[in-house]
Formats: sequence, C-alpha cells, structure tokens
Amino acid sequence: MFLSIREMEVRKVRFDETFQPGEIDFSSEDVRQSSPLHAAGVAELLANTDGEVRIQGQLTVKLESECDRCLGRAEFPLDARFDLFYRPSQALNGSEEVAIDEGEAEMGFYQGAGLELEDVLREQIVLLLPMQRVCSPGCKGICPVCGKNRNESACDCHEEPVNDRWSAALRNLSQP
Ligand SMILES: [Zn+2]
Ligand SMILES: [Zn+2]
Repeated sequence: MFLSIREMEVRKVRFDETFQPGEIDFSSEDVRQSSPLHAAGVAELLANTDGEVRIQGQLTVKLESECDRCLGRAEFPLDARFDLFYRPSQALNGSEEVAIDEGEAEMGFYQGAGLELEDVLREQIVLLLPMQRVCSPGCKGICPVCGKNRNESACDCHEEPVNDRWSAALRNLSQP
C-alpha cells in the first residue's frame, strides 16, 4: 500500500492491511513469515514541518527461523506498536552539515511522492527480531561430540571444550 504525501496533505491516511507470507521479502534476514502480517494505523503529514511524516500503528505477525543452538524451529510472535517519523530526503542539503542528535537518530527518510507501507513494516519487523534466535530460552542445543539434539535425549558425552584441550596439550608439552 502506497502512503501518498498528496493524500496526506488533504487528510490523515488510515491503513488496516493484511500481508500474507511471501508478500514481503524477509529472506535476507534468514527468517520466514509464518502467519499473516496485520498492520493498522495512521500516516499523517505534520503541520509546520518541511514535509515530515508520522506513521503510528500496531503490527502483529509471527516469524520463524532455525534455532541458533539446535537447528530446530524457532518462532517469534511479534505484537508491537510503532511510532515513526520520516523526513523527505531532499531536505538534506548536500552542502549543509547535518548534525544528527540522539532524537534524530530515530528519523527515517523518504523519497519522492511518499512511502510504501510494506517497506516501513519490513524495517520495523527486522528491528524487532531478537538477536539470539532460539526455540526456547532453555534450549540445550546439539551435542558437539555425538551430534544428538540434547533437547530430545541426553547423551553421556564428556564435553571437552576446544580451549581446554589446547591448554591440556600445552600442559603436557611443558612437562619435563
Ligand atoms: Zn533449539
Ligand atoms: Zn553427545
């Protein structure tokens, strides 16, 4: 859905959209959308600004990826409010030094006649993804010795981290 500045000049633009998996591409983030994405909110042109746009709303979606530890399925249900500000990129004059202070770091930019809602949502969702993608906080991962999924069955492997093996080898070397 295109959020047109022209339309915002006349009125606030409301959106209430559902995007099925595949409509927005998340492949570069190594995640898949596993439920419809629903987003509702309003986009408005702020008065007395140089074309600044505010987009507020709420999004709900589920995404999934491989668990970082056990390679099983890790799911991330997102349900988040957003409140974003965008400024036309031509307002950035090339010769003008732009000091970006803390508050302005939250500011995005748009080019031309408006913004694609899909791009806005994609950017938000990527920011909301957890750094650590695990199927559960207590995931035990895969045994580095026998390769079994330790969530499914315990193994009796004696795990010697690589560093310990190195220090053991060094200890042996230094012994007379
Ligand atoms: Zn896991
Ligand atoms: Zn094992």
